[in-house]
Amino acid sequence: MTAAPDDAAPRPHWAVRMNRRNRSVFFALLAGVIGVHLFEHQAPTSAWLALALQFALYPQLVYWRALRHAQPREAEVQNMMLDGFCFGLWSAGLGFPLWISFILFAGACVNLTVFMGLRGGLMETAVMAAGGLLGTLLLGPVTWKPGTSLLVSFLCMAVLTGFLVVFARDGFLRARDQYESRAQTLRQLEEIRLLQSRLQDLALRDPLTGLFNRRHLDEALAAALSAAQRSGQPLALLMIDIDHFKQINDTHGHPAGDAMLQALATLMQDQVRPDDLACRVGGEEFVLVLRNTSAEAAQAIAQRLRLGFEGLAVAHGGAMLQATLSCGIACFAQHGRDARALTAAADAALYAAKVAGRNRVVVAPPVGPQDAPAAAYFA
Ligand code: GH3
Ligand code: MG
Ligand code: MG
Repeated sequence: MTAAPDDAAPRPHWAVRMNRRNRSVFFALLAGVIGVHLFEHQAPTSAWLALALQFALYPQLVYWRALRHAQPREAEVQNMMLDGFCFGLWSAGLGFPLWISFILFAGACVNLTVFMGLRGGLMETAVMAAGGLLGTLLLGPVTWKPGTSLLVSFLCMAVLTGFLVVFARDGFLRARDQYESRAQTLRQLEEIRLLQSRLQDLALRDPLTGLFNRRHLDEALAAALSAAQRSGQPLALLMIDIDHFKQINDTHGHPAGDAMLQALATLMQDQVRPDDLACRVGGEEFVLVLRNTSAEAAQAIAQRLRLGFEGLAVAHGGAMLQATLSCGIACFAQHGRDARALTAAADAALYAAKVAGRNRVVVAPPVGPQDAPAAAYFA
């Protein structure tokens, strides 16, 4: 078995990575500044040893700890508080030189504020003060030495400026990444929304003609009838069936029949208003739901459709196909008040049209207390 490549190891938490880089770079710079200060004050070897431990070894140890911690972010917060505490000790140990103490304090405060907000800054202040106090107590009476040489003061300014600029850049990059990933998420959401509505539309449409299918008719007819009930407006249901359609299939083949179905669908769509409902409910059976349309108006529309279809010649495979249609009409509320009653009435009217010789429009007979004849008007 071969060993897993290094890059297969999980990537450390971003807080661990960021602090690793910041500690490596800024602890090295701080070591330089404090080193110059120590050199200028001819510090003892123990101070140089402490410098090496604090600014070379310590960053590796806390990184190692955060890397192995179950909660790397929490480990880094503790590490940053330890940084502040150590900085307090260093400030005390050096006699609180103003510039050095200031950059140690500002660096530690900014670092934890980035992670925890103002609370982080206050916590860092507290631990650094605690470190300063403990350092003062441990090291006995600390000589107050606030001054630094011009060189050290200048180096302090440069290190702090570098530190703040790098932090600002990190903030900028993170904000930009978040903005881009948010924009990408919004784009993906929009695509999903589009796909969803396309899928929904597909589920409600007949693939051959693009008209609505029976499932949609059931829902839309119920809704249209409720609206008609509320508004008191009429509603017409047209049931349409191509005459002797089987013969077209038998004579010219199934694809020719399909072309005929598509031609009728196109004609229906052209002739209805946008809020009317055109559906294919079976093989060569169609339904039109016309809102706010009386029986007379529906009959005129059906006649126009019938004549239009009769006059249509569909070119297919070298042949010109022609057919006729029959149509039964039922209206809300004279022929029924619900979908079932209306459909039955329109179906009966369509049957009457077929029986009467096809290629015609029949309106269902009015429903009264005494049973009416099968069909009222023949075209
Ligand atoms: P009628 O005048 O009494 O309505 O006679 P018809 O031949 O139109 O009616 P019938 O019910 O006997 O035949 C309907 C035919 O429609 C039979 C079936 O093969 C055909 N059909 C059903 N669905 C499709 C389809 O999607 N494409 C094609 N091309 N034909 C279909
Ligand atoms: Mg049929
Ligand atoms: Mg038919």
